Amino acid sequence: MAEENNVAEVAAGNFIEDFINEDIAEGGMYEGKTVHTRFPPEPNGYLHIGHAKAICIDFGMAEKFGGKCNLRMDDTNPTKEDVEYIDAIEEDIKWLGFDWEDRFYFASEYFEQMYEYAVELIKKGLAYVCELTPEQVRENRGDLTTPAKSPYRDRPIEESLDLFERMKNGEFEEGRMTLRAKIDLASGNFNMRDPVIYRINRIPHHRTGNTWCIYPMYDFAHPIEDAIEGITHSLCTLEFEAHRPLYDWVIDNITSPCKPRQIEFSRLGINNTVMSKRKLRQLVEDGYVNGWDDPRMPTLCGLRRRGYTPASIRNFCERIGVSKTNSTVEYSFLEHCLREDLNENAKRVMCVLNPIKLIITNYPEDKTETFDVENNPQKAEDGMRTITFSRECYIEAEDFIEEKVKGYNRFYPGNEVRLKSAYIVKCTGCKKDENGKVVEVYAEYDPETRGGDTPDGRKVRGTVHWVDAKNYIDAEVRLYENLFTDPEPDVGDKNFLDYINPTSLTILENCKIEKSVEGAEYPTFYQFMRMGYFCIDKDSTTDKLIFNRSVSLKDGYKKK
Ligand code: ATP
Ligand code: MG
Repeated sequence: MAEENNVAEVAAGNFIEDFINEDIAEGGMYEGKTVHTRFPPEPNGYLHIGHAKAICIDFGMAEKFGGKCNLRMDDTNPTKEDVEYIDAIEEDIKWLGFDWEDRFYFASEYFEQMYEYAVELIKKGLAYVCELTPEQVRENRGDLTTPAKSPYRDRPIEESLDLFERMKNGEFEEGRMTLRAKIDLASGNFNMRDPVIYRINRIPHHRTGNTWCIYPMYDFAHPIEDAIEGITHSLCTLEFEAHRPLYDWVIDNITSPCKPRQIEFSRLGINNTVMSKRKLRQLVEDGYVNGWDDPRMPTLCGLRRRGYTPASIRNFCERIGVSKTNSTVEYSFLEHCLREDLNENAKRVMCVLNPIKLIITNYPEDKTETFDVENNPQKAEDGMRTITFSRECYIEAEDFIEEKVKGYNRFYPGNEVRLKSAYIVKCTGCKKDENGKVVEVYAEYDPETRGGDTPDGRKVRGTVHWVDAKNYIDAEVRLYENLFTDPEPDVGDKNFLDYINPTSLTILENCKIEKSVEGAEYPTFYQFMRMGYFCIDKDSTTDKLIFNRSVSLKDGYKKK
């Protein structure tokens, strides 16, 4: 139940904040009360980035107003197994950094009360047992100028009470009858045309087993759940806007302990992906991805595995804002938010993804020298690390071409290139195998350029990353692209499965990474210089390091 609260008004912000401010102000419906919200996921799948938006709003509003936010499993639809989903939902919300403390509820705990509220409505003449089949209900729903019809609408209260009880006792088969609210068959809002509020369903429920064989419909159950928990503001997505009159009708017509206010906001969509749990489940079950936490999935566990940080997701949700118009946000904006965070916080290391050997022919065979380099130029406090350098190192195959091309500043015979933080070297040629494939690149170093500086100020345009061939670790690196080739794979009549991107995952098994990453564990975030931001994968072991590319660097960066 709502409690006394002396938290001051929050400065005007988005429209939800404005409504709440209005309600808690003097004369408002919750004057002096604690703001109380809830996040009500249906435990039938993993949470996705759309849910993150709702979580940030539900928990975020409570935080802002010094209130509380409940976590409630909206499990009024009977299903068998949900434990995996429930655990994952809790983990994901905690990971984002929100806390429901001890306010963790199941809507199914309220079945008895919901039943009693339904009986109350029947007794008040506000609900009746209807024996139309779902098909007949549809046929009789009328249109804008014709009201709906039900021959059972005026059946005596006693008869409805008796039938409803017998429905509960399991005397009728599924679909045989329903309980309908008696509201307005001519309403312009079809949700108000005597909506079904209870149906028979014989699937066992994951928590209540076979105790119930009748289940409340969402529109009836949800306001009751909110009322029982003393919710002041029931924040939900826009598709419930047309259901709000029904939400209010239920609250107004039962003996409700309080009167929650429903406020709707727009759903988040992101391009080149799908967001419905049903579709995400299909991707998992049909093997299009390797599980709910596949780093290509827009699920929170997928994003986490990909290397997204809680801060980047919260920041994204904050910046996309809250509005009343559904819109699709560019995937690249989510990536932008991650890049900002990692630019600040990721350790820089060198890793060669497609290695080719560079041999520095004028460097002594058995010499090894060391260089101290910064872990993060953005953060001096992250300190320095030591890397080694010797006669042979690995560079990216794409950093060598046999003949000069305009604008290409890396290795080609005759060109000078900077090996990042080490030396300036001049390319002298290459060796090819019998198929004409370049297998080694040769260069000579200038001993006067230790650290990568040119004492005479001569210009060296290209700087490349490298890894000492005497001191490295082998690594597997997984690169990702959009899961779908179409920006809106599930809009209109499109079948999203027709737009799966066949190259959404590239696995590079022969990468060479500097030794400093030895023993790295999740969550450690890296910037592989010139290659992007990476994160250790959960399949990684000490014997086999595996990294995911979380996001590439800005395109502009590479051209430098
Ligand atoms: P889905 O279509 O993905 O199954 P849902 O709405 O059925 O979504 P729920 O588990 O019922 O999923 O959602 C819990 C809460 O999260 C609801 O309040 C819902 O409005 C909100 N939510 C779900 N998807 C989005 C989204 N894309 N953007 C913002 N909020 C969302
Ligand atoms: Mg749902």
